[in-house]
Amino acid sequence: MRKVSIGLAAAGLTLTLAACGQSANGVGDGASSGGGNAKGGLVGIAMPTKSSERWINDGNNMVKDFQAKGYKTDLQYGDNVVENQVSQIENMITKGAKLLVVAAIDGSSLTDVLQKAADAHIPVISYDRLIRGTKNVDYYATFDNYKVGVLQGSYIADKLGLKDGKGPFNVELFAGSPDDNNATFFFQGAMSVLKPYVDDKKLVVQSGQTSFNQVATLRWDGGVAQSRMDNLLSKSYTSARVDAVLSPYDGISIGILSSLKGVGYGSSGKALPIVTGQDAELASVKSVIAGEQTQTVYKDTRELAKVAVQMGDALLTGGKPEVNDTSQYNNGVKVVPAYLLQPVSVDKENYQKVLVDGGQYTADQLK
Ligand code: BGC
Repeated sequence: MRKVSIGLAAAGLTLTLAACGQSANGVGDGASSGGGNAKGGLVGIAMPTKSSERWINDGNNMVKDFQAKGYKTDLQYGDNVVENQVSQIENMITKGAKLLVVAAIDGSSLTDVLQKAADAHIPVISYDRLIRGTKNVDYYATFDNYKVGVLQGSYIADKLGLKDGKGPFNVELFAGSPDDNNATFFFQGAMSVLKPYVDDKKLVVQSGQTSFNQVATLRWDGGVAQSRMDNLLSKSYTSARVDAVLSPYDGISIGILSSLKGVGYGSSGKALPIVTGQDAELASVKSVIAGEQTQTVYKDTRELAKVAVQMGDALLTGGKPEVNDTSQYNNGVKVVPAYLLQPVSVDKENYQKVLVDGGQYTADQLK
């Protein structure tokens, strides 16, 4: 059921790598590298960008948790530029890192640098985003990404009352960055819920833009999403009303909301549409409380950091990382054993319970 299309480039990479005659089992390579005696070694943590709060929290949480277990850490942010990330990882290898934890900017651009890591017997944990097209990735720590999309799609379906036969309503669709494997999972999860209603004409996409490539947002850029929404509104909604917008990420939702407000939604009796999101970033949770963004999907990155640290510590001390999924995440070369955490849908009704009682934010921060 959960078929996710594999990037075309991946097929070519399989052949190239096979031709290199490397062992087929990245896990073995990694586990043996630690040899059970790399406790306290340097851990290189490569994160994509500081432009989104979640990655700042991810990085800080991992530094704290690895250091608590006695490891040294080197945390780097690539500023959403692939070349930066590649050279940061190269530096980590040169500095003698014993483990790499990587949230890729472009999931398919790390093949060469991870070959260098493999040559130096450094195991690699793919963090949140799947690294594609290489066997040199040992484990994957992430959330149930398909479920994130299902939560977003279901939220729209429930709020519009589609199951009760209501409609037709107008919806527009946004997806994340095409070079991030997660973006496809989110979109397919959401469309598993929404597409039947589109087929039944209970949901109408006035722009006609329904394929992933048409609705993707390079590098998850809120400004890019805002321009696209401006275009959609001026071309397809001069007389029609937008009832819902599928947005995969809070930063994109902010762009979409600015665009909507720019043409009068949210004032003079013209209600904002349902707008989804992801990450429960502070500004967006405030927007949810203020009645603008309707929903977000919360992923507890404190837990994700713990999973990555558990995996890394096991790899470096001769143990076996705990996983709970060994089928969903094929990176084009192999299925990467993964530990999936559960995402939670958050809106005005439950933010207090999930985010405040759960310790993500204090009540004061949300004022
Ligand atoms: C992450 C999301 C995040 C997005 C943009 C994805 O890979 O899973 O949590 O919203 O990147 O940073």
